[in-house]
Amino acid sequence: MRQSQLFTKTSREAPKGEVSLNAKLLIRGGFIDKTMAGVYSYLPLGLRVLDKIKNIVREEINAIGGQEILMSAMTPKSIWEKTNRYDNFDALFKFKGIGDKDYVLGATHEEVVTPLVKKFVNSYKDLPIYVYQIQDKYRNEARAKSGLLRGREFSMKDLYSFHTNQEDLDEYYEKAKEAYFKIFERLGLGGITYLTFATGGVFSKYSHEFQTTTENGEDTIYLCEKCKVGLNKELLETEGKKCPQCGNEDLVEKNAIEVGNIFKLGTKFTQAFESVYADKDGKQQEIVMGCYGLGPSRVMGSIVEIFGEENKIVWSKEIAPYQVHLINLSKDSSVSDKQYELLNKSYIEVLYDDRDESVGVKFKDADLIGIPMQVVIGDKNPGKAEVRFENNEVELIEIDKLEKYIKEKYVR
Ligand code: ATP
Ligand code: MG
Repeated sequence: MRQSQLFTKTSREAPKGEVSLNAKLLIRGGFIDKTMAGVYSYLPLGLRVLDKIKNIVREEINAIGGQEILMSAMTPKSIWEKTNRYDNFDALFKFKGIGDKDYVLGATHEEVVTPLVKKFVNSYKDLPIYVYQIQDKYRNEARAKSGLLRGREFSMKDLYSFHTNQEDLDEYYEKAKEAYFKIFERLGLGGITYLTFATGGVFSKYSHEFQTTTENGEDTIYLCEKCKVGLNKELLETEGKKCPQCGNEDLVEKNAIEVGNIFKLGTKFTQAFESVYADKDGKQQEIVMGCYGLGPSRVMGSIVEIFGEENKIVWSKEIAPYQVHLINLSKDSSVSDKQYELLNKSYIEVLYDDRDESVGVKFKDADLIGIPMQVVIGDKNPGKAEVRFENNEVELIEIDKLEKYIKEKYVR
């Protein structure tokens, strides 16, 4: 992508009223645009990042057997009444259609997926089923001041599993946990994202959150440094301050962002929709269910919030909008132009700063955009390119060898 063609521009100032670091930086970098509080549009650079995050999630959920679907975002009131959530789910967006009919915008999809899956299940032979989607969710959140961390419209990956019995659910639940750890590792949040015990409701003792620790997190968790697990505030209030795994009472309080949440639902929803299967003896049994949420847009905000600085975003190479930021500083752009074409032909993703701007402007913009590999071609070192990494490492590479170097060093 030639930067001269990119319709978005960076800006020096964040809009008034944006208080969170992630929203300020993402708006200034031209990644997102604010429509209203808690609601953002994704611009070319931002959409590429969001899609990369979604694809990592997609690959790991596919790897545990998830089949991707896309459910409707518009839903009828009746399904929410069936599960008693029309009046009890805090933040539902409700609206009216023709004939004064009541609708709900999807805030979560148990009410849609449970009757949907029911249509395809007769006997135990049809189970288990794992289905998921990556879709925007709508919640009338009370506070929407944290940019992408808490949207009123936000992206969620929601996976639902359907089983013949509890044991089968328990087994899959552990697999899902592992998949989540892999996802957060690949997203660059490994080591700071902790499995956190939360209250489980009627059907299980615990549910689990994945909490990424950071000063600016709005949640508080209590970490057991021996087990590397946490518990959330609600569980602490009901069970006391001790590690649910080893009983250790010496827990460390941390601020954190909830990036994922997994839950054993048991038969809560399948009962409501009379979702049953015939067992080996032909007897009708209730389907047992689990649900697994993860927020790609919240993850995107979290990464900026955690690794960003005042004028700088820092993407990891896995999710950066482009793999390489090629910056031309030479009056004669022919060398850079040629490299741009060469790299494009090798399917390396390049943002090419071909603009007629000062060195200072180009470097400032590059820092703000946050691609972790910058390749600078100028007149200072004829025949060479300066490759600059996020950690301030710089290498001089002969231009003839640039493509090979980038491929080896950097591209998967
Ligand atoms: P929170 O307690 O932060 O409101 P939640 O418990 O309501 O989250 P879930 O319903 O479990 O969240 O949603 C699954 C995932 O979706 C969360 O782990 C989070 O990553 C994401 N998510 C939830 N609400 C929002 C939101 N308002 N904006 C962005 N992401 C969200
Ligand atoms: Mg919530």
